[in-house]
Order: sequence, then C-alpha cells, then structure tokens
Amino acid sequence: MKVMKFGGTSVGKPERMHHIAGLVTKETEPVIVVLSALSGTTNALVEIGDHIAKGDRNSAKQAIDKLEAHYQSFVKELVKKEEALIKAKAIIAEHFEFLNIILKISFSEALSKDILAQGELLSTKLFCIYLEEQGIAHMLLPALEFMSIDHYDEPQIGSIKVKLSQLLQQHKDKKLFVTQGYICRNARGEVDNLKRGGSDYSASLIAAAISASVCEIWTDIDGMHNNDPRVVKKTVPVEQMSFDEAAELAYFGAKILHPASIWPAQTYKIPVRLLNTMQPEAKGTLITEEAGSVGVKAVAAKDNIIAIRIKSSRMLLAYGFLRKIFEVFEKYRTPIDMITTSEVAVSLTIDNDANLKEILKELEPFGTVEVDKNHTIISVVGNEIAQTEDMVKKLFGSIMNIPVRMVSYGGSPHNISLLISAEYKTQILQQLNKGMFGLE
Ligand code: ASP
Ligand code: MG
Repeated sequence: MKVMKFGGTSVGKPERMHHIAGLVTKETEPVIVVLSALSGTTNALVEIGDHIAKGDRNSAKQAIDKLEAHYQSFVKELVKKEEALIKAKAIIAEHFEFLNIILKISFSEALSKDILAQGELLSTKLFCIYLEEQGIAHMLLPALEFMSIDHYDEPQIGSIKVKLSQLLQQHKDKKLFVTQGYICRNARGEVDNLKRGGSDYSASLIAAAISASVCEIWTDIDGMHNNDPRVVKKTVPVEQMSFDEAAELAYFGAKILHPASIWPAQTYKIPVRLLNTMQPEAKGTLITEEAGSVGVKAVAAKDNIIAIRIKSSRMLLAYGFLRKIFEVFEKYRTPIDMITTSEVAVSLTIDNDANLKEILKELEPFGTVEVDKNHTIISVVGNEIAQTEDMVKKLFGSIMNIPVRMVSYGGSPHNISLLISAEYKTQILQQLNKGMFGLE
C-alpha cells in the first residue's frame, strides 16, 4: 500500500483534480490519497477566523460569501452530470452553513480550529464526488476518526496505527482511499490541526502507521532543488538524499516539505518521494536512509531570523550558565536554531518573536543583551559535507564580499549554517549557486 499526498495547487483547479484522479487510478497497489485544501482556502479560513475573533462579523460574512462563490464555480467545472452537481452543491451548502452558524455564536479557540478544518473536508468530499461520477471505486476515510494529537500537540502514532488499520480492515475490498491532510483531533477530542502546511505531516504519519511501500508528496515542482528556485535562476532537482539531509533542508527553509514530516517516515523506514503533478514522469527526489552520494547537495534560506547576543565576561564560562539561558527559551517554548559561543559571549538565533519581550527581560540579569532582527540563515547541506575536500574553501571563497554574522559548523556532519543580514539573501544564494554548484 502506498500514500500519495497532493498539495493545495494540485487540487486548486477543477482540471487539476481531474488530472490527479488520473494519476491515482494508474496505480496497481492500493493507495491512500491525502489531500490538502484547495489553494487559498486555508488562508481565507484564517482570515475568516481572525475577523470573527475581532468581532468584525461583517467582514467575516463577506469573506465567507466570497469563498463560497469560489466553490460554487469550482464544482460547475469539476463535474458534468446533474446528479453529481446536486451532490457537490449539497456538500458546499453543508460546510458554508456551518461557517454561517459559527458567525452567530461566541468565538472560542476551539471554534477557530473547526473553521480551519473546513478546507480539507471540502476538498476530499468534492474529489470523491468526482471519482463517483467517473465510476471509480473508492472510500473516504475521515481523518478525524483516526488522526490524533496528545496534550503536547504531538501525534499519537500508536493510536493512529490501531484506528487506521481497523478502518482499513473494514474495507478490505477497496483499493483507493481518500483522506484529509492537516486535520486531527486533540487530547480533548476537539477538532484540531497539525499546523500550517501539515498535510505532508499527515501523509508521513499515515505512511508510517500502515508501513506503506512509499510516501509520495506531489507538488508543483519536480523535487527538492539544489537552491531556492524563487530566488536563483538556474536550479536543479536533487535525485536522492538522506532523511537527515532532507530534515536540515526542510527545517532551514526549503518550502517543499514540512519539516516535521521527516521523522515518522525516517523512524518507520518509509521512503519518501517528492514528485511533480504537472510533470509526473520526472524523477523527483527520493529520500531514504542513504544519502546516495557525498558532498554538497543543496542550500536553503530561512527568513525572519532574530539574532540575540548575550555578553558576560564574568559568568559565561561558569558551569550552569548556558543552562540558565536555555531555560529562559524553554519557559517561553521558543526553539533556538543556531548557537555559537566565545569566551565572553554567546550568540543564538530564534525565529519566533511571540515572547521576545519577556525573553529579553529574563536574559537581562545575565549580561548585556543585543538583538538584531531581520536576519537570514543560509544552510549548506550535504552528506558528510564537513569532510568534503575544499568544501569550506569553496564556500567562503564564493561569498567573500558578504558579511557573515554567525557560522555554525560541526553541529551535524551534514550542515554548515551561516547567519547573514536579510538584505544579502539573494546575492549569497546566487553566489553559492555559482561557487558550489557551478550553476548561474
Ligand atoms: N491546508 C493547510 C495549509 O494550507 C495544510 C496543507 O496544505 O498542508 O496550511
Ligand atoms: Mg505544502
């Protein structure tokens, strides 16, 4: 059995939905299809939730009506037969009625999650109506019946496994299953989600839970590229990489894969393949335990980084000092990305400024604290990169004109990270493309 996950742009237009129906029915092995919401929908739902939270019901109502109109025209092109269109319209009516009811009741955090869940519920149900119209046998597996997270928002893989296999057991005769990405139930049994971009995570968890032969992530680009295609003109897909390399790239900025989606596949040894819906014959990128080759694979950039430097000649090297600093970040549930230390100072970076004020206040007693916003982490990733001959020379040789604020080398054998001011991002990615990959 395999998992095929399609992102928002792969289902965002009626003809794309037709196209992916063609892709999933070509398979010989049983498939679980995981779908995102149509592109733009989750953003619209976030906006609706924000309006309601602020008590601005008029704006919320406008946004709901606009989104509904989008779905009305979408289904007109999705299905042809009158009977299918009636069913599709009934689905739309059901979900938008729900949104309109929410408008009238008092807002809560739990309700906002209900709002966000409508996108994936709609995309999967509409896709199933199209499959039905085409006479393609299939089964809708409601993610809310098997996907769950605990009190710490961590997926409960054990329970997911049990519930999903029970569901599959009940429909042994079927070969094509469709389910929602992103949505789940939390420890209180309420509707919740795996955070933005979480459909990849759903796919990987499902693949792990059923010991899938492969977890395919279908997007609109032919795999993980060696550099950011939005910034650099000439980039090439990487054919194979290890889970460790993929994790570094996903975490440090490659938008193609949600960073959390690596661990379930890695832990349960499920190969992941990144594929392009618009170019299904392209090889894409295969992610497995093995890296396939040694040396530099790709660079990625992570924006909106805040650098914090704590200077203290008196305390820095005293034992327990770093622990005290880390405890501050732990208290505010703020992950640290990069860290370097010197005799008199420690520099670190975070990307979440939600509690920055409080964090800075608590760091004050430890020394002088400097904060620099608007930085970018550039990560150079590759299997055993640190031991690759001439690598460091090539890396720094190609960016000599760019001021580097921090360097992190040796934390993992697969990554060298640089912190630069955001204004140099385009320039550094272009220069690295030439210097490290010989691409211009
Ligand atoms: N629809 C959700 C989002 O836009 C989940 C996903 O697409 O992965 O974040
Ligand atoms: Mg995505």
